[in-house]
Amino acid sequence: MSLVVLAGPAGVGKGTLVNYILEHEADFMLSISATTRGPRPGETDGVQYQFIDKPEFEKLIKNNQLLEYATVHNDNYYGTPLEELTRAKALDKHLLLEIDLQGARQIKNRIPEALTIFISPPSWEELETRLRNRATETEAQIQTRLLTARTELLAAGEFDHQLTNSNLEQCALEIIELVRESERGN
Ligand code: 5GP
Repeated sequence: MSLVVLAGPAGVGKGTLVNYILEHEADFMLSISATTRGPRPGETDGVQYQFIDKPEFEKLIKNNQLLEYATVHNDNYYGTPLEELTRAKALDKHLLLEIDLQGARQIKNRIPEALTIFISPPSWEELETRLRNRATETEAQIQTRLLTARTELLAAGEFDHQLTNSNLEQCALEIIELVRESERGN
């Protein structure tokens, strides 16, 4: 089982890549994060996230029940429950973590053998278009995400691997291949 961290700016297509991998590879699973942000239309508790309130989240922090956590977009708490790691180990599956830069850094410090992959957009214009097209955020939220994206893109070099998501299938296959390679000890 490996821990696979996928990071990259909002709108880069991490969610779609994860869905593709889960649909095609039976030995991968997604870590369900806990967050204090409210569910968006179409999101269900326990599926995309575990939606909890701030006191509950702070209890998880206090009880050391998180593998990592961060305040994302200066707004809400997001974190990976340690339980997800236990679940993946028990099922002997590769655990995909779709988290932000701060979380990725914490994981690498805590678990150096984790495979960290940074996903970049084909261009800045493309990122902005994708973010607007998903129409899930307000203009102010889009601006915050673009600001965070600038900082995140500067940190791409810290990751074990960097991929560009120009083509969904190709990028997903590259991620799978990187995991298989690391499994083989290359
Ligand atoms: P969104 O609110 O759009 O679902 O996610 C906002 C950001 O939070 C994304 O960049 C996503 O990768 C990040 N995120 C989601 N879950 C976690 C987590 O458990 N930990 C950290 N550090 N970031 C997360």
